[in-house]
Amino acid sequence: MEIIAVLGAGTMGHGIAQVAAACGYRVILRDTEREALVRGIRAIEQNLLKGIERAKLTEDERDMTLQRIRGAVGLAETRDADLFIEAVPERIELKRETLREVEQIAARPFIFATNTSSLSITDIAREAASPERVVGMHFFNPVHLMRLVEIVVGEQTSAETVETARVVGRRMKKEPITVRDVPGFASSRLGVVLGLEAMRMIEQNVASAKDIDTAMELGYNHPMGPLRLTDLVGLDVRLHIAEYLHHALDSESFRPPEILRRMVAEGKLGRKSGEGFYKWEDERQVGSRQRAAEP
Ligand code: NAD
Repeated sequence: MEIIAVLGAGTMGHGIAQVAAACGYRVILRDTEREALVRGIRAIEQNLLKGIERAKLTEDERDMTLQRIRGAVGLAETRDADLFIEAVPERIELKRETLREVEQIAARPFIFATNTSSLSITDIAREAASPERVVGMHFFNPVHLMRLVEIVVGEQTSAETVETARVVGRRMKKEPITVRDVPGFASSRLGVVLGLEAMRMIEQNVASAKDIDTAMELGYNHPMGPLRLTDLVGLDVRLHIAEYLHHALDSESFRPPEILRRMVAEGKLGRKSGEGFYKWEDERQVGSRQRAAEP
């Protein structure tokens, strides 16, 4: 693996491009929208600048990282990549189409990794010419700070492809875990159920949001309690995932609590709307905890 093409320069794509370039890969960051590409590259520059300010990297390292990233709007410019990591919007048809287009232009055998947070890898690979070379690489937001990558194994993904994805993940300084292609993978399945149970505890007046979060932070050493995390992720996003997992796993553990439905209907979406389980009058409330946010 020498050249990585990252498809989509949005929230996840630019972060993946940054960490791949920082660890020595040559990266082509491709977005169909020129403005999105410019925004993505600017975000990388800002992340790196913050890194210098915090003495986490040198100016030389920053320059080397930026030199290894080439922006592209046309897909043809990615044709020499060994690994494609797609971070296009979460729509199965778009993911499949992206894979089809890559098959048409690729100059050599390649691995296609999808950063999907909820779609089935097996479904994305359904019409692929080489489904054994399709795998999930589920990164977390913000990519340059979050240490986990879930390697998701589709029904036809080969052991060699899984191993390559794990090696690339490690080189990107992430800790890879290997997960079978089931709804919610490992992280969302466990994380969402904890958040939903915390909401049911609010409904049952067990304790305040702050005390429930403190229970997990101090009693279980979680860096952030489940309700604060829900506020950062967005209550609407959480409701959507809960509905999906409730249906897909046919488990009552994922039935969205009434309080979640009600708060979303009232426009209390968490930090982005100014109120969720907490009031977010200004960004300082987030403080250093801002780091975690998942799909
Ligand atoms: P985003 O909307 O921020 O970025 C998507 C980008 O893809 C946009 O810039 C868009 O212009 C571009 N795009 C659209 N079609 C394209 C194409 N055919 N080729 C190249 N670029 C194209 O989305 P995001 O939040 O970065 O999410 C991307 C993927 O990552 C989704 O599958 C999502 O589920 C997953 N994910 C998101 C998060 C998160 O916290 N945002 C976390 C983990 C995984």
